[in-house]
Amino acid sequence: MLSGKSEEEIELIRESSLLVGKTLAEVASLIEPGVTPLELDKRAYEFIHDHEAVPGFLDYNGFPNSLCISKNEAVVHGIPDDKPVKEGEILSVDCGVLKNGFYGDSAYTFAVGEVSNEVRNLMETTKRCLEAGIEEARAGNRVGDIGHAVQQIAEGNGFGVVRELVGHGLGRELHEPPEIPNYGRRGRGPKLVDGLVIAIEPMINMGVKEVQQLSDGWTILTADRKPSAHYEHTIVVRKGKAEVLSTFEFIEEKLGITV
Ligand code: MG
Ligand code: MG
Repeated sequence: MLSGKSEEEIELIRESSLLVGKTLAEVASLIEPGVTPLELDKRAYEFIHDHEAVPGFLDYNGFPNSLCISKNEAVVHGIPDDKPVKEGEILSVDCGVLKNGFYGDSAYTFAVGEVSNEVRNLMETTKRCLEAGIEEARAGNRVGDIGHAVQQIAEGNGFGVVRELVGHGLGRELHEPPEIPNYGRRGRGPKLVDGLVIAIEPMINMGVKEVQQLSDGWTILTADRKPSAHYEHTIVVRKGKAEVLSTFEFIEEKLGITV
C-alpha cells in the first residue's frame, strides 16, 4: 500500500517545486533563436545555487548537467549542447532541485520563436494531458486512472504515448514508488492516498509511440524522428482534488501567456 507524506514534508517539497518553477521561468526568459542549451543550463545552475539549493539532476546516475534539454525529436534526458537553437524548434526543459533534503521536479516544452500549427497542437495537447492526469490524482482513485486520462487525450488526437518512461513518486529521493505510467486502465493499479506526492509527466509524440536511446547513453528520441513534447508537475494527492506543488505561473508570465 502507498503512503502519504507528512504535512511538514509536503511543505518542503512545495518549496523545492516552487524553486523549479522559478528556475524554468529564468530559463524561459533566455529562450530565443541563437541561444545554446548549455547557456540555459549554466543559468539554471547559477539560479538554483543562488537559492540555497542544488540541481537535482547534476551527477544523478552520472548525468552531466543541471537541466535535461530535449530538442524536437528528443523526448527526454537530452544533454545540453553548444548548438544554437533555431526558430521553429521546440525545447523540452526538465528541471529538478534538491533543497532542505527534498526534491522538486517539473518540465515544460518551449517554442523557439514561432512553431508550426502542428507542433503547437502537440504542445497544447500534451499540456492538456498533464491537466487531465492531475484531475484524476485524487485519494481513492488508482494509478491507472491517471494514465488512462492522459492516454485518452493523446491518442484521441492521433499522438503516441511513450511507454518506456513514466512519472514517479518523489520526496527525499528523486524517484520513489509508485511509477505513474501515461497509459493505463481505469480502476487498475495501486490506490492513491491523501498526501502521496508524485510527479505526473506525459511524454507525447506527434507520431509513433516507440522511442530509441541515442548512443550518448541518455537522450531518448522518437523512433520516427517526429517531435515530442513533455510537461511535468509535482503534485500531492488530496481528497477531492490534487494540489499542484510546482507551478507554470512564473514561466507563463515570462512568456506572456495568460491562463
Ligand atoms: Mg522531471
Ligand atoms: Mg520526473
